[in-house]
Amino acid sequence: MKTIIEPFRIKSVEPIRFTTRDERERLLRDAHWNTFALHADDVMIDLLTDSGTSAMSAAQWGTMMTGDESYAGSPSFWRFDAAVRNLFDFVHIIPTHQGRAAEAILFSILGGTGRKVPSNTHFDTTRGNIEATGAEAVDLLVPEGLDPNDLSPFKGNIDLARLERFMADHADDVPCVMITVTNNAGGGQPASLANIHAAADIAHAHGKPFIIDACRFAENAHFIKHREPGQEDRSIPDIVRDMFSKADGMTMSAKKDALVNIGGWLALNDDDLAMKARNRLIMTEGFPTYGGLAGRDLDAIAQGLAEVVDEDYLRYRVRTNEYIVERLDAMGVPVIKPAGGHAVFVDARTWLAHVPPLQYPGHSLACALYEAGGIRTTEIGTVMFGRRPDGSEQPAAMDLVRLAMPRRVYTQSHADYVVEVFDELRGAVTDLTGYEITEEPPAMRHFTAKFRPLP
Ligand SMILES: *Cc1c(COP(=O)(O)O)cnc(C)c1O
Repeated sequence: MKTIIEPFRIKSVEPIRFTTRDERERLLRDAHWNTFALHADDVMIDLLTDSGTSAMSAAQWGTMMTGDESYAGSPSFWRFDAAVRNLFDFVHIIPTHQGRAAEAILFSILGGTGRKVPSNTHFDTTRGNIEATGAEAVDLLVPEGLDPNDLSPFKGNIDLARLERFMADHADDVPCVMITVTNNAGGGQPASLANIHAAADIAHAHGKPFIIDACRFAENAHFIKHREPGQEDRSIPDIVRDMFSKADGMTMSAKKDALVNIGGWLALNDDDLAMKARNRLIMTEGFPTYGGLAGRDLDAIAQGLAEVVDEDYLRYRVRTNEYIVERLDAMGVPVIKPAGGHAVFVDARTWLAHVPPLQYPGHSLACALYEAGGIRTTEIGTVMFGRRPDGSEQPAAMDLVRLAMPRRVYTQSHADYVVEVFDELRGAVTDLTGYEITEEPPAMRHFTAKFRPLP
């Protein structure tokens, strides 16, 4: 059959509150034209993030009732530990309340002034946790990863030649080499198995540990299966184990590919590092058998890990984004290709060419999507990255709008609706105006800034 149906049926539903355009214009004005300031129940299709927004399965909700809340040594912990080990065979598995907590613990040990941590692209919390220690986060993405129209299959690869040179020049200052799968900040593009292994070999040649930021490991494994020669007959768990076979550790946000609403972990092979990490964990997160989570959360992760490697699920998951990208591309809406694993990225700078970058074309499109169709997205561009520490502004590398797909939440007709809203905007895209910022905090301004449309 050609039609890829949602590989689930729905037992428990949440209503979507329908709003009118007039109502949305007023709500957005009241929110000072910042989509983060909207109340979620005023949003019809919420594509703000895929983080922590997954729909859990009946089996996961079942484990929420059977979870064990013992402070130490809970059976829930041991089920979590076994499920993680089934895919990621590390010596030490340390639960945390979410991904950035694992990063904070890791870099409290490995970071420090003068150190440098290379990766394909660091996610912003990873960068933040590295830089907070005085260390430098270095992105070494392959050049095709920055070209929206390059159709290469693995645009999330780390540039191996640059990594070799970087290690030759700086190895003494490098505490570990990292790779993010899929490359979230680079549009959800995957890294190949060959690239992951080669990066690990370079790290090991210099005696350095290789750490994977694994948030979207299952989506990455799906891309490997379907795009990397010789991988098509392997099972997803088999590919996942191979992806991690040369790694010395991982950080994980379970809010992504563990299909839960909260959770994460840090995994390590080195005993001394793990001992330091657990000491830190006890101070900041909790006892090592719960790490800031309830026992039931650990059980939900264990069940989620069994579900996320299901090939029918992954095909449906990735296909939703491909479908939207194909439809938008056919309509002439500029999008990043190929589609990423967790989101669709629209190139607002190109589409709204009449709005200069310092008038925030991505922000303008995000506001228009809400007003026209109640769709909440986020700008990834000059609002997010354009402010320099001295308060001056410069255009970001690109002005994108991200449509991040929550897992198992929306159906085909929701995707068709999103496409239709773009179709409606298409006729009047040149009428969309730029914006100015009327109030902003000194850092991370996109979350709380206030805006005003320009005439
Ligand atoms: C979300 C994310 C993180 C941080 O995880 P949280 O659970 O949000 O703290 C780190 N790295 C990547 C690639 C992510 O997508």
